[in-house]
Amino acid sequence: MKIFLIFFASYVFGSTLVVIYDGVSKGTVEPIIVNNFRYIGTDQIVRIGDGKRYYATKKFKESVRLWGSRVVFSPENPYVVIDGTPYNMGLPTKLDRKGLLVPLEGFFKSFAAATGHSIELTDSSIELSITEGTSESAYNKIDESPSESPKSQLLERKRKSEEETKYKGVIVIDAGHGGKDPGAIGPSGIREKDITLPIAKYLRDELKLLGFDAKLTRYSDVFIPLSKRTEIANKLNADMFISIHCNASKKSSSNGTQVFYLSPARTDEARATAALENQSLLLEDEPIIDNIDELQYIMADIAQSAHQRESSILAYIVEQNLADSIGTIARGPAGAGFYVLYGTYMPAILVETAFISNPDEEKMIALPKNQKKIAKAIAAGIAQFVENIKQ
Ligand SMILES: [Zn+2]
Repeated sequence: MKIFLIFFASYVFGSTLVVIYDGVSKGTVEPIIVNNFRYIGTDQIVRIGDGKRYYATKKFKESVRLWGSRVVFSPENPYVVIDGTPYNMGLPTKLDRKGLLVPLEGFFKSFAAATGHSIELTDSSIELSITEGTSESAYNKIDESPSESPKSQLLERKRKSEEETKYKGVIVIDAGHGGKDPGAIGPSGIREKDITLPIAKYLRDELKLLGFDAKLTRYSDVFIPLSKRTEIANKLNADMFISIHCNASKKSSSNGTQVFYLSPARTDEARATAALENQSLLLEDEPIIDNIDELQYIMADIAQSAHQRESSILAYIVEQNLADSIGTIARGPAGAGFYVLYGTYMPAILVETAFISNPDEEKMIALPKNQKKIAKAIAAGIAQFVENIKQ
């Protein structure tokens, strides 16, 4: 009996709400109360909506169609993307055994804003009504007008289903350093920031060829604070975050490729690499810290991050592909406290392509043909990872 009580105590249900959209009742939702806030499962959104649910990349994201709009949620992420535009729901989604729990008020307010509706939320109902005269709602009306020919409706349905099957996800590519932050500098004077940017651009092109949507955190030689880079990925509701770098060591003989994910460092070498990359923080206008070593303590709670396991698998696949492709040694994927990966709501890795401090590797990574090879290998690794997690 006691066991049952504990089981049921984990779910507290709020009172049922009727959902009314443009004057039509769409059914009811039964919120679950978590920490005094009302949440609903995505299964309930599917029920009141068009009855369709897609998994963009299984386990990570849920995409549903609600009354003609495409809505994408990510786990533990407060941003919802509605018809391609991110909205902040105020509270992050929660992972549940059945899927994602979505904050009720934040979601419906975002949906109303995205679709040009006004919203009235009471204890027993949610009502979305079209606001007079907005161009967006006028457009929706035309779109759903019955005067549209059956042929064009058919074409539209075909286009939408093609769009769904083609959707492979958004990858945010971060070219390390930039602007006043040159990154590491090689023995012949080549700067890390000038290597990472072309690789990032080639990677974007490769990913697009593979059917992904890819975005960069920087497109030119500019300085962008580390936390801003993470924020870009979160706002875009990205499926993956890939930060591109070159490793450096005091020993000029150090060589090889290594891919990192966020986790407390287990070796001094991994810790040193993270400390080096975290130096960029000191160049920010308002540095969050003046002692890089202290960062490890700040990030001590990262061990249980929702995506650590996936990130380590991604790191492994990308490192193998990359080392094979450019003939470097694979140093073995490792966890460490990289600030640029901290706070990402998706699988995230930092790729140390090779050692810019090693004269041979510096020469190698400076050649555009090798930068293209690197990009191709990383893209192939990403595609392999997506195939892997779909199973
Ligand atoms: Zn770097």
